[in-house]
Amino acid sequence: MIKFEQIAPKICDCHVHYGKFRDDYYRPEDLVTYFGALGIDKVGIMPTGIAGEADFTVDQKIMGSLPPERFVPYLWVSPEMVDADPTLNTYNTLNYKVIKIHAYARKDWDAKPDKIRTVIQAAYIKGVPVMFHTGGWRGSNAIQFYKFCREFPEVDFILAHGKPISQTLTVLRGAKNAYVDNSFMDIESIKMICDAGLSSRILFGTDFPIMKTFWPEINLINWYKNNIMELIQIFGEKDFMVWANENFYTLILK
Ligand SMILES: [Zn+2]
Repeated sequence: MIKFEQIAPKICDCHVHYGKFRDDYYRPEDLVTYFGALGIDKVGIMPTGIAGEADFTVDQKIMGSLPPERFVPYLWVSPEMVDADPTLNTYNTLNYKVIKIHAYARKDWDAKPDKIRTVIQAAYIKGVPVMFHTGGWRGSNAIQFYKFCREFPEVDFILAHGKPISQTLTVLRGAKNAYVDNSFMDIESIKMICDAGLSSRILFGTDFPIMKTFWPEINLINWYKNNIMELIQIFGEKDFMVWANENFYTLILK
């Protein structure tokens, strides 16, 4: 069996956060330390956005301070940010590679499908994928985003978490431009995607370091290594490297 250290330099994680989550605050400088110790290739980074409103100026400053050879900034977009600039051009200074819409943290997105279309249009012009949080309530379940995937076949979409899995499979089957990340996805759900012949539509993601809030006793470094080794053990190194390297470079760093 291959060792973590051997493959780490090729691994890209498409779903990582900094900032306040519930009672915890995940410091950007600690993420630099963690990923320095892990030695992985790329880290798709975004604020948590959960605790309150996104503050673009603050987020840009934080993400701009992270080592650019490893950290890949994502634009966390709120309805107010779209109102302020529907082209989203104001936010180009971040040099983001993905736009994130979180319709669980901001449940009012559900009543604003045209505002979501405005974001997708901006993503199309910029040539970046749109990541949707999925799961948690009706308004952010995977099937809610099916129509957007069908309306914008030239934009790539990432269904973060792929929840619920039955709806996720429907979207993946019906839209070639739909992908899923496996952050907080159980092994059985990943198996269902693979069994449906859709393994090539998975991106490796973890939601690191949010798991520490749910399981305070874990050691984050050990958790990270064990998570990857478990995925390789079950799904094989070849498939895993498509999720963790090939798809990240093809979709996000294209
Ligand atoms: Zn997340």
